[in-house]
Amino acid sequence: MAEKAPLREVRVVGRVLAVNERMAEENRRRFAARGVFVVNVMSSPGSGKTSLLQKTLAALAPRVSAAVIVGDVATTHDAERLAVTGVPVVQVNTDAFGGDCHLAAHVIERAAEDLDLGAIDLLFVENVGNLVCPAEFDIGEDARVVVLSVTEGEDKPVKYPAMFRTCHAALLNKIDLLPHLDYDKARALAYIRQVHPGMPVFETSARTGEGLAAWVDWLLAGLERKRAAAGR
Ligand code: MG
Ligand code: ZN
Repeated sequence: MAEKAPLREVRVVGRVLAVNERMAEENRRRFAARGVFVVNVMSSPGSGKTSLLQKTLAALAPRVSAAVIVGDVATTHDAERLAVTGVPVVQVNTDAFGGDCHLAAHVIERAAEDLDLGAIDLLFVENVGNLVCPAEFDIGEDARVVVLSVTEGEDKPVKYPAMFRTCHAALLNKIDLLPHLDYDKARALAYIRQVHPGMPVFETSARTGEGLAAWVDWLLAGLERKRAAAGR
């Protein structure tokens, strides 16, 4: 009878995702009602999400009023780094509820209660560093982006296709390090195109600021579309 266990597990996972889907739709309605554009930022650990967000927040201010929900299994290190930018930051530590390696929609709902949504134009969610299950959990975001750094393997897009397929943009980060590495950038870009043809890719460096303007313009365009759709 042992061979039946996997089937049961699949059904439980299916139910979890169905519940998450309903919560995500509720979040989406709530964010839309307040005119908040929500961007879910995902990556492996150490790809530079927090540094990138620091620079992005600085570039958006004062035009855009932003906030961040940041997820980690433990520690408030990333929230502390983001809080110096002056924007509201809510840290979620998943350690308190089983050490989840992703943020689920109900976690975002609770975290958003600590924010004044009416005063926020753009909400970033820095997801837990992981390229697998965050791809499966809709949190009610408008845009999903994946950050890939040149210190990782070029083949990440084909190893984690669900992540790259479900995102609206990719950032190839830490490009300032390229002269010091044997990284095959053309191969990485080809893999991204293979998994998700036509997805915009921004080559960025949080350290030098290279490529950040194009990424910020993409965010502003998304924000404009959301405002236009809401008739604001
Ligand atoms: Mg981080
Ligand atoms: Zn997970």
